[in-house]
Amino acid sequence: MRRLIIPICLTFILLFGSCENKSSENSENNIVNIVVIYTNDEHGWIEPTDNYDGASGLMSMWKSVEAYDGSDKYLIISGGDMWTGPAVSTWFQGESMVEVMNAMEYDVSAIGNHEFDFKIEGLNNRLEQMNFPLISANIINKSTGEIPDFAKPYIIKEIEGVNVGIIGLASIHTPYTTAPVNVVDFEFTSYSEAIEEYSLKAKNEGADVLILVGHICEYEMEELTTIAKANGISIICGGHCHQVVAKDSNGVILIQAGANMKAYAKVEFNYNKLTKEAVNFTYEIVTNNQHDFDSEILDIVNYWNDRTDEELAEIIGYADETIYQSSTEMQNMVCDSWFYSFPNADVSITNSGGIRQNINQGDISLESIVGLLPFENFILELELTGEELIEVIDDFLIGGMTTIGGFNLHDGTPIYNDSTYTVLTTDYLYSLSDNNFALYDDEPINTSVNYRQPLIDWIKFLNTSSTNPLNDYLDNQPRR
Ligand SMILES: [Zn+2]
Repeated sequence: MRRLIIPICLTFILLFGSCENKSSENSENNIVNIVVIYTNDEHGWIEPTDNYDGASGLMSMWKSVEAYDGSDKYLIISGGDMWTGPAVSTWFQGESMVEVMNAMEYDVSAIGNHEFDFKIEGLNNRLEQMNFPLISANIINKSTGEIPDFAKPYIIKEIEGVNVGIIGLASIHTPYTTAPVNVVDFEFTSYSEAIEEYSLKAKNEGADVLILVGHICEYEMEELTTIAKANGISIICGGHCHQVVAKDSNGVILIQAGANMKAYAKVEFNYNKLTKEAVNFTYEIVTNNQHDFDSEILDIVNYWNDRTDEELAEIIGYADETIYQSSTEMQNMVCDSWFYSFPNADVSITNSGGIRQNINQGDISLESIVGLLPFENFILELELTGEELIEVIDDFLIGGMTTIGGFNLHDGTPIYNDSTYTVLTTDYLYSLSDNNFALYDDEPINTSVNYRQPLIDWIKFLNTSSTNPLNDYLDNQPRR
């Protein structure tokens, strides 16, 4: 077990209190020990993988390493992006993930951008299932000006007489990191204003200690340390950028535990009820690779695995070597597969963020393609001039053309500024505000074909096997 421990002793002056050390009149009873266990960006990775142990491994470690017994002193928190990922979660719109998190007794989660992937209806279905609330202090319903029903700005958990306030933040980048149409009714407002407003409200409601849980990257966490500290927040938990962070910055503890249940973060401290101070903070990131599995959680994971297998067991092809997520072969294959379904199109444009895992050596199941391209993105068909095309490709992945040695179509024909080209992209990329797809074609054809479907159909068509592997059909030539 790799274990990175960074113990420090900080004296936090929180809402009240002085800098002095614990006074001698403190008895043991006035010291309350609190343990925060934190994951973020779980992305549906409940299953064990080669190197990490999934949800059941985490639960086992919480019990054996952290002595987790389900008692109040443990706060189990998620930073959001819980369920979009491999088929075992995505295919069921996160139902499996939430069942697992309920069983692990999560107390609360921030709202990640991908919580909106299955629309508000999908989010509400999950919320109905959850035994824990979603928090965000900076999502505003545009029509009411209020925080929407699916979110609370903060919660207060009482632990042995100590009120721990937990304030949520959603990423202000959410409108272009999920399908924008899914969040069109909401505004994602300033972090600092939300912190100021709701720290005060939480304190007025009796919070003794404040924790901020944001679906925010390390640079954003850093930027918020000053305002967090000024408002009595002692810990900022982050996410979204899948970073490993465990440090004291400007007197605030910052933690982020990577992604995909590969690790958890732990922050432990004591609250002194007499001096009203949170003291003796320690924090660490613990890797989930002890290879010991909690049977209750494993049973749930296995149940969903079986259901996934039943529904997606179909073998559609064969790879004699692993095709890696970020490889040129993978990127070209995804872009090129669309021409199988849309042979009259000239160019395809997608983004690397939509490609989420490897295709492993061996049989290729439907399940592996759902995990590879897990989003509910649909293919649009646009008509663009050469000049517009060259502008909108930006640094996206491209099929049917190259930018090496000039802008040319796949057959070597130059792309002429004034000629018109049929271009495929996803409704997701089209709806991003920082590119000009919509400016150049405001009436694209929505094919209603999911961006993964052509790849599935093409692989099936190739009828691949160990003697005719998919790898033989891949193009490893860079196009940029
Ligand atoms: Zn995210």
